[in-house]
Amino acid sequence: MNKEKEINLENLDKKHFLHPTSSIKQQQEDGPAIIFEEGKGIYLKDINGKEYIEGMSSLWNVAVGYGRKELAKAAKKQMKKLSFSSAFSTFSHESAILLAEKIARLAPGNLNTVFFTSGGSEANESAFKLVRHYWLLKGEPERKKIISRKKAYHGVAAGTTSATGIVEFHQMTNSLAPDFLHVDSDSVAALKKEIEKEGPKTIAAFIAEPVIGAGGMFIPDSDYLKGVRKVCDEYGILFIADEVITGFGRTGKMFAVEHWDVKPDLLVFAKGVTSGYFPLGGVIISEEIHDLLKEKSQGTLFHGFTYSGHPVGCSIALKNLEIIEREHLVANSSLMGSELLNGLKKMENQFHCIGEIRVIGLLAGFELYENAQTKTRFSEKVAPKIVAECAKLGLICRSVTYDDSDTIVLAPPLIITKEEIEKVINILKNAIEIVIEDKK
Ligand code: PMP
Repeated sequence: MNKEKEINLENLDKKHFLHPTSSIKQQQEDGPAIIFEEGKGIYLKDINGKEYIEGMSSLWNVAVGYGRKELAKAAKKQMKKLSFSSAFSTFSHESAILLAEKIARLAPGNLNTVFFTSGGSEANESAFKLVRHYWLLKGEPERKKIISRKKAYHGVAAGTTSATGIVEFHQMTNSLAPDFLHVDSDSVAALKKEIEKEGPKTIAAFIAEPVIGAGGMFIPDSDYLKGVRKVCDEYGILFIADEVITGFGRTGKMFAVEHWDVKPDLLVFAKGVTSGYFPLGGVIISEEIHDLLKEKSQGTLFHGFTYSGHPVGCSIALKNLEIIEREHLVANSSLMGSELLNGLKKMENQFHCIGEIRVIGLLAGFELYENAQTKTRFSEKVAPKIVAECAKLGLICRSVTYDDSDTIVLAPPLIITKEEIEKVINILKNAIEIVIEDKK
């Protein structure tokens, strides 16, 4: 890449591109940190030809890795045949029908009917509207409130921002949607108490990510999800599992709720369903909910996005899910997750600063401390510095610094190999040595 073109792109970026979830100040001062140009497998290349391991699968989504010709072929074939058609009303088309059937087959329990969206926020918004609609049809219109967890991330549309339990996202505007409540993230008792306080008959649903992702990578206690399922049943409240990150093998099972043998009433997915080759998400509803809709709905379901069930997205998703199954990527996620855990544990033995390693499949996070044994934090957070150093050394990972946390998060593509995990660990070690100089 010639320097002139690079400077030109940087200037255009600063002037014209408002980046999603970004520091505008940093962009204006430094320009874009990396301008990516191409990807293959678990690797991305920037415009200067520098190579990186994408240790976050971009936004936890590129499950099957970059540059899959098969997916490009599926997109091309569908675009040439039927580039778009509406799924509104009673119009339909083959790829959406087949994808809905495929997802129903993969989903646990009696989650059998799919509503499609363009991504996770729309999918969660749809879940909220569907549960409220369900209670209206059931003759309990006062059931409107949605309870979510502190630290949860559910998206950035009106309802989903309000359901998100990370206050930084609330502070952007001074207007949140009504009827959203938050409870402590790992306490069944807290949920029960909130339901009792608000009145059980006012609660429509409880929503939880089985593993909290963007909020800092928290795996629940082993009895948490079973416990909240029980509480929901006790009060007749619907349970929505937000598997936008965890779905389709990320945690070493097809869906994360399977780890705890919990059956949600609605399951929300996005990201890994297309590995990011097309924006697509959706919500799978239980047979009970579908039965009520079939029985009681009069006329139109007044909810649908132009791109609900986009034929190109659905064709790509079908091929992507075929790859995940054919290449046994759910099993690989579990196996390589163990490798990643071993690597991080070895690092923990080497450095004073590493504590609380949390790994499930290929979702990993660990905390940084000045002294992990005494849980003394650094006076200034170090995770962002280590992440910046990793990028220089050729590894993309993510820091989370909400509240007290000083966390590094990893979520590499599900195709990663043992050798590549070793590379990831080595880069992490080097970056920590450079930033903290604290070998044991
Ligand atoms: N739910 C969860 C658990 C997520 O991680 C995300 C995105 N990171 C969303 C919902 C929102 O998805 P999208 O960005 O596709 O709207």
